[in-house]
Amino acid sequence: MAYKCLQKYCPELALIECNCPNNPRFCHSHYIDHSVSSKCYSRSVDKEYAIDLMRINETKNAIIKLRDDSINLAEKMILMINNCLKNNLKFIKNKIKASSVWIYQTNSESLESINNWISNQKLIKRDQDQLNRGILKLFDLNNIICKEEYEIKIEKLEVENKKLNEKLEETTQNVKILQNELKITRNIYQEKEVDIEHLKKVQDDKLTGALNKIIFLEEERKKDEEKYRKIIFESEKECKIALENYEKLLKQSGYSENKIYRLDDGLKKSSVIRPEKRKY
Ligand SMILES: [Zn+2]
Ligand SMILES: [Zn+2]
Repeated sequence: MAYKCLQKYCPELALIECNCPNNPRFCHSHYIDHSVSSKCYSRSVDKEYAIDLMRINETKNAIIKLRDDSINLAEKMILMINNCLKNNLKFIKNKIKASSVWIYQTNSESLESINNWISNQKLIKRDQDQLNRGILKLFDLNNIICKEEYEIKIEKLEVENKKLNEKLEETTQNVKILQNELKITRNIYQEKEVDIEHLKKVQDDKLTGALNKIIFLEEERKKDEEKYRKIIFESEKECKIALENYEKLLKQSGYSENKIYRLDDGLKKSSVIRPEKRKY
């Protein structure tokens, strides 16, 4: 209490404040006791007290206004419910009357339709929660509905949070599984890459070997070609000499020059050349 005397159990208003630590307040008589030992300075807080009294009165008046508003609102609602009840009672009275006179009046409402109407009402079973909540929303000064709604929201958020945590846990597990699979695939890929490199090297070596062999064979072929060209050349030379010798011999032996078989033609023809007989 702002105006409570520092002296324990003192019921008097403390309207004197001294300059001791924390500025304690005392009633008049206890301040005299206190000042004897403390030798402190004091001041009156009458003005603050008067202002605070005014503020208290304003707050009290606001509370009273709220009380009056609450009562007025309740009276309106009571009046509305009362009117509704009056109408219901009037309606029920008419139904009782209709069922009573039914036996005398042929065009009156049938008992069956009255009974159907009654069974369809189910007044007690009607949902009162919504109305209760509506009334609380309208009248409640203690924020019960707000607190309830807040608690419901908190509960929902906790459930959602739990679900999200479960989902997060599941996703984390899936990520771990995928990371392991990725690691295994990467290892397999690296192994395959080594195999491919090895195969490539083997193929390159084979290709190089084949190329070297082709070069070697080509060189051998060129050597052979040169060798056989020389042999042919020598053979042709020998043939030419032999042919010249042969022609000489023919001339000496008296054979017609026209009949002389050319050695190179003879190679093309299959006929046998016979020497022409000498005429006597
Ligand atoms: Zn003091
Ligand atoms: Zn006192």
